[in-house]
Amino acid sequence: MNPVLSALLNLQEVDREIFKVEAELARLPDELSARAEALENRKAALEIKRRETAELRSSIQEIEHTTVGLRQRLKKLENESSNGTADASLIASYQHEMRNIKRNVSQAEDDGLKRLSRVEVLEAEIAEMDARIEEETATFAEFQSNVESETKDAEGRLAALQEKRSKRSSDGITASDLEVYKGLLKTRQGEALAELGDGLCEGCFVNLPKNIVVRLARGTELVQCPSCDRILFNY
Ligand SMILES: [Zn+2]
Repeated sequence: MNPVLSALLNLQEVDREIFKVEAELARLPDELSARAEALENRKAALEIKRRETAELRSSIQEIEHTTVGLRQRLKKLENESSNGTADASLIASYQHEMRNIKRNVSQAEDDGLKRLSRVEVLEAEIAEMDARIEEETATFAEFQSNVESETKDAEGRLAALQEKRSKRSSDGITASDLEVYKGLLKTRQGEALAELGDGLCEGCFVNLPKNIVVRLARGTELVQCPSCDRILFNY
């Protein structure tokens, strides 16, 4: 085998592992922040329900306050009508006002009851969400601590791999070939080389033209797959 290819294969053996660990290290914080965001969204939804409940409760209080005032007025009008001092036209006007007040009180009471039943629904939902958030907060804390230990572990593995990598020589590989190799590690998920097996690139499973196979067999240059660009090798 072309000695440059052998050297690249030697590097690839470690670089493949480095790529995996680096991908893991990039993924872990992403997963953590996605979960944190989901939890925050749930808390925000809960807060909206709490606010709606508080607003409803305060409007119910206002309604109660208003109906108390209306009832007092009603009582006063009833007294005025029955104490014998009012004349017929005044009594008629009192009665008109009393009818209006009764209607308003009845509407306000209906409205208050509707709001109260909405409050009950909301409070049940809030209790449920509260319990769920509490549970998810605990799960998140556990996940976070797992991520921390997995990160530590991955960092340790990465350091060991980098140490191992530093001992592998890239002597004999030209700077431009090394550049091509490193670029492929990135674009091809840590697999910069592909075996040529039976006229096929094992990296992308595309049939290779005859001239590629011939060039590779000659062993004098690096040959890349025309489809996936990986550096081809065979034993
Ligand atoms: Zn290919």
